[in-house]
Amino acid sequence: EQEVAPEKEYLDSPPLAGANVMNVIVVAAECAPWSKTGGLGDVVGALPKALARRGHRVMVVAPRYGNYAEAQEVGVRKRYKVYGQDILKRMVLFCKAAVEVCWHVPCGGVCYGDGNLVFIANDWHTALLPVYLKAYYRDHGLMIYARSILVIHNIAHQGRGPVDDFFYVDLPGNYMDFFKLHDPIGGDHFNIFAAGLKTADRVVTVSHGYAWELKTPEGGWGLHGIINEIDWKFQGIVNGIDTKGWNPKFDVHLKSDGYTNYSLESLQTGKARCKAALQRELGLPVRDNIPVLAFIGRLDHQKGVDLIAEAMHWIAGQDVQLVLLGTGRPDLEDMLRNFERQHYDKVRGWVGFSVKMAHRITAGADVLLMPSRFEPCGLNQLYAMMYGTVPVVHAVGGLRDTVHQFDPYAETGLGWAFERAEANRLIDALGNCLKTYRNYKSSWEGLQKRGMMQDLSWDNAAYRYEEILVAAKHQW
Ligand code: ADP
Repeated sequence: EQEVAPEKEYLDSPPLAGANVMNVIVVAAECAPWSKTGGLGDVVGALPKALARRGHRVMVVAPRYGNYAEAQEVGVRKRYKVYGQDILKRMVLFCKAAVEVCWHVPCGGVCYGDGNLVFIANDWHTALLPVYLKAYYRDHGLMIYARSILVIHNIAHQGRGPVDDFFYVDLPGNYMDFFKLHDPIGGDHFNIFAAGLKTADRVVTVSHGYAWELKTPEGGWGLHGIINEIDWKFQGIVNGIDTKGWNPKFDVHLKSDGYTNYSLESLQTGKARCKAALQRELGLPVRDNIPVLAFIGRLDHQKGVDLIAEAMHWIAGQDVQLVLLGTGRPDLEDMLRNFERQHYDKVRGWVGFSVKMAHRITAGADVLLMPSRFEPCGLNQLYAMMYGTVPVVHAVGGLRDTVHQFDPYAETGLGWAFERAEANRLIDALGNCLKTYRNYKSSWEGLQKRGMMQDLSWDNAAYRYEEILVAAKHQW
């Protein structure tokens, strides 16, 4: 019964990118499966492969945090001077090295050089890369055809510091203006993301909703002014997902302990088995007709897990089960443990980072809660829909783009999307969702099937990235 995901037969077909084939270097602080704290790692694990499938030559540059079994030593050694505190020092070193990789590290046997070259940098950690490309090379008439794209996965972290930090980034004095930002409360400060946004050839963010929000004072976290100024080179592209790793038909985490792989055709029986296996694994009463609600994610203010806490008295009064998986702020971790203690008959709060449990919960749950206050793209709602798990989300950022509100009359939509990050809105939406689950089985199946039938693969998003790479290449 168990199937293995087929490798697509890309090798026999001509490159989809055609005449636009480029040399791409993706640079990021994390790359799944080796290093991942959230969506950034997933994206960097998947987008390069999708670009390679289109025929581009793609290399990923990421820090080696551990001794990864698959890592091969390339034997390239360089020495750089770096100063400053730990995190800044590491990012300076990393970006200085990454910008030179095309000259020193062979990919497929040869070094890229600077022909048809595009760097894709990600978030503040690597926002120095476009700055170094400009300051060390292009200002001197070198690498003038190389381009840099900076992707915003989360604007909340910017690499802010005191103005004196400029000393550590090793740039000519006239570059200070790229970094210096004034904000009404903190006054002048040093901001790495600001410099990256100004110097990159193109800037991408991970959904259309977030692209819009970044231009507002509430959503731009002090960088909205710059983002409005660079609007001409700024655009949203919704992330894809790894449809091999996150696919109920092939998911390796569903091959044991009573779980099972399933697809659209075997949705009802397959999901029921996964639900029973999840209930058994977590020690919850094994009941098919009780809706299982889930939350998976970092425990911080962004993810709105405290809204679930506020709604807890209501949830506890319903005939439901609730499973929460997350790590993060210690007080919120304690909150999860307390939920479990107080409502042991129906709630489980799993404090930890477990990829296996994330997959199993996504398969076994009926409903995924994502009450995020802001959400640049969000991946869990996409994974949930692939598994026939219906999302209930705050309509913000990428959640607004991807979870279209259910319309019971037209039988359209993919889940419930409430308008304000408030517990009573969450309760309203969840109440309607549970009513549909209990009383309108065919509507529920329709929701599940529409979710599963979407093409959420990276192929489409990779094509959008390619359009931007090509536009940047021809820009003068
Ligand atoms: P963010 O990048 O803001 O954390 P995303 O929804 O884009 O949010 O991506 C989160 C990723 O991290 C998903 O792959 C999710 O399954 C995973 N994840 C988050 N918390 C956990 C956890 N406690 N255990 C396992 N995986 C987790």
